[in-house]
Amino acid sequence: MSQQTIYYFDNNATTRVAPEVVDAMIPFLREQWGNPSSTYDFGRQVGGHVDKARARVAALINAEPREIVFTSCGTESNNSAIHSALVTQPEKRHVLTTAVEHSANLKFCEYLTKRGYTVTFLPVTPDGELDAELLEKSIRPDTAIVSVMWANNETGVLFPVRELAAICRRKGVLFHTDAVQTPGKLKIDVRELDVDFLSLSAHKLHAPKGIGLLYVKRGVKYQPYIIGGGQERGRRGGTENVANIVAFGQAAELAVARLPDENTRVRALRDRLEEGILDGIPGSARNGAKEPRLPNTSNIAFEGVEAEGILMLLDQAGICASSGSACTTGSLDPSHVLTAMACNATRARSSIRLSLGIYNTEAEVDYVLQHLPGIIAKLRASAPVG
Ligand code: PLP
Repeated sequence: MSQQTIYYFDNNATTRVAPEVVDAMIPFLREQWGNPSSTYDFGRQVGGHVDKARARVAALINAEPREIVFTSCGTESNNSAIHSALVTQPEKRHVLTTAVEHSANLKFCEYLTKRGYTVTFLPVTPDGELDAELLEKSIRPDTAIVSVMWANNETGVLFPVRELAAICRRKGVLFHTDAVQTPGKLKIDVRELDVDFLSLSAHKLHAPKGIGLLYVKRGVKYQPYIIGGGQERGRRGGTENVANIVAFGQAAELAVARLPDENTRVRALRDRLEEGILDGIPGSARNGAKEPRLPNTSNIAFEGVEAEGILMLLDQAGICASSGSACTTGSLDPSHVLTAMACNATRARSSIRLSLGIYNTEAEVDYVLQHLPGIIAKLRASAPVG
């Protein structure tokens, strides 16, 4: 295996598992491997740790522990919220969402349209912002749920979730937000936001993949998506993924503790990186509004070059970044987020995302700033686009 140093700038894709989190979960793989639903003490003790983790993740979002349903990932959480709203209100067959959601929401909504439901995918402005008035006007008498992400994973642009939730409350419509990109970056307070459902995924906050949660506000009717045993108080069948749940709890505490760092040091690093690129590379431009935006995300278009080439040369230099494009059968589709922002396909195909995290350093930012201008110049010289 290559020993090359990795410069990791893809924290919106996934994050390094924090060493503290690994330490917290290992006992539940080695010694305390009992089933938390068992009646004997060996199992019950494990159940106690699941309860403790539930309280910790609840504290991250200012929820009550009983409002937390552990799931396998953010995708399951999003699917579950929308599914529940439709099943508990069978007379309502319309879903309102946006064109820039993660595929964890979009693809489920597209599937629903094939099952006879109607979905409205709201447009965004060229800066990736959502018009709250348009959302309000688009709510119909048969709207079962409004599902709108808080922070866009590609651009970092934030939607005014609190305002949108208030509109839905006034109109008597359920509101779900995909908050997967926000922990450790924004303060999350479900009481203040007043949402009915909220999705998180642990691998975005330095815990392992394969664990997520859905917040379900107390009093909101909920129909499970995965039906089986009575786990999660009957709201999600399947034996609990104990080690990952414990890891999620530990990571939730770290996320709260590191929030100030992410908003000062990481934000400053991101700004330095972004300004360094925009000032130093002609024909580069930011995609999406500068603010309000996640403190760690930068999405930049480079005129005359394909993202695929940039990412390849960055990779050769040990730099991990990504484009918003989904790579299917070797061809890069332009990002649905950037195209919804009225970027033309060429610009969308020329854009990359750099997303920072708590482990990034100034020296790493310097390294990218040192390499990227040469990479862009080389690509422009070798294969000019249109
Ligand atoms: N929602 C957003 C905004 C995301 O960025 C992601 C993952 O990239 C997901 C949902 C899906 O989460 P998971 O990978 O846990 O299914």
